[in-house]
Amino acid sequence: MRLSRYFLPVLKETPKEAEIISHQLMLRAGLIRQESAGIYAWLPLGLRILNKVNAVIREEQNRSGAVELLMPTIQSADLWRESGRYDAYGKEMLRIQDRHEREMLFGPTNEEMITAIFRTYAKSYRDLPLNLYHIQWKFRDEVRPRFGVMRSREFLMKDAYSFDLTKEAARHAYNKMFVAYLRTFARLGLKAIPMRADTGPIGGDLSHEFIILAETGESEVFCHKDYLAFATPPADVDFDDVNGLQSTVDRWTSLYAATSEMHDATAWEGLAADTRVSARGIEVGHIFYFGTKYSEPMKAAVQGPDGKPVTVHMGSYGIGPSRVVAAIIEASHDKDGIVWPVPVAPFEVALVNLKPGDADTDKVVADLERRLEAAGIEVLVDDRDERPGAKFATMDVIGIPYQLIVGPKGVKAGEVEIKARRDGARRTLPPDAAAAALIDDVMRERVPA
Ligand code: ATP
Ligand code: MG
Repeated sequence: MRLSRYFLPVLKETPKEAEIISHQLMLRAGLIRQESAGIYAWLPLGLRILNKVNAVIREEQNRSGAVELLMPTIQSADLWRESGRYDAYGKEMLRIQDRHEREMLFGPTNEEMITAIFRTYAKSYRDLPLNLYHIQWKFRDEVRPRFGVMRSREFLMKDAYSFDLTKEAARHAYNKMFVAYLRTFARLGLKAIPMRADTGPIGGDLSHEFIILAETGESEVFCHKDYLAFATPPADVDFDDVNGLQSTVDRWTSLYAATSEMHDATAWEGLAADTRVSARGIEVGHIFYFGTKYSEPMKAAVQGPDGKPVTVHMGSYGIGPSRVVAAIIEASHDKDGIVWPVPVAPFEVALVNLKPGDADTDKVVADLERRLEAAGIEVLVDDRDERPGAKFATMDVIGIPYQLIVGPKGVKAGEVEIKARRDGARRTLPPDAAAAALIDDVMRERVPA
């Protein structure tokens, strides 16, 4: 992609309305634009990042055995009356009337709809276990939308819903999502710690929020420092191994970790002082077992092995990809801008032409672009007629992981320069060797083990 033909509205000034760094940088880097309070347009560069986040989420959901579908954003109020939530949900729900004066709503979540889909088609215990998910926009009329896409009114959610015959089977479904979430966040470059969350009237211990530590987090969290060094379950984890998954989950829940709502001051004080980490946290995911809360009123039952109807056990599992984009920036930036990890970077290499119009330089740039793109690398060529300083500043703020810098002087000497955005490390190499080195680095970083 040539920058001269792209749409990248980078801002020079930090917008005053943005309080936290991720919001400031998302506006400055031309990723999003506010359309109404808590409602954002995703500009081209931002959309590429959001799509990358979705792709990682999707791969890990699929790996764990969940099946993707797509439900609509607009739902009927009648569906929500079946579960009793239409009135209970309150002002956060955006209620809509269509031309026939039918009551509709913009979905804040999809438990009711997925339960209705399930009960239409699933009739036998042989149809279980089942986990269906989609990635779809949600609307919650938050009282105080703020921090950009971190807490918006319209936001993207990956929501998965599991159906099982028994509580034990539902626990395995829960563990699958738990492990899939550990892998997902690690691949996104985030250290997410599962923390026990309130299960409300259902009780039990089967609800966890996945929290990343960040100074600008909205909630106060407490955890054992060893979590920060725990190894992520490997890509070849066997999701059908019931005991294996259970022991992974047991290990990841063995140490203290709680949000302020679940905090137990006595247990906390009992920990050695040098193992305690108390910090601010951002909730990026939430998983929940809720048994028959929806299947009971909505009559979602299947025929059990003995021929008798069994009301199914359900769980739901959310990740907010749009919030995740902001969370990654909170975790990965420096004074010059964003530092994208390769798996979510909008482009992997920024190919900076220091002198567009200089025939020799243009040729080396065109050759490198072709060579990298042929290898499947995503390249943004800065071919604008701008000062080098302005180009470097733009590339730094938008945070592309590698800059490949080509100028007339270097070209004469048969050299180009690679700069790693992460640490600023520079290498000077002949163009061919530089391309080979970049292809190697990018491929290796795309899917961290
Ligand atoms: P919060 O406590 O932050 O308000 P929640 O508990 O209401 O969130 P869930 O219903 O658990 O949210 O939603 C699942 C995921 O969707 C959250 O973990 C978060 O990543 C994302 N999410 C929820 N609300 C928002 C929002 N207003 N803006 C952006 N993402 C959100
Ligand atoms: Mg939650």
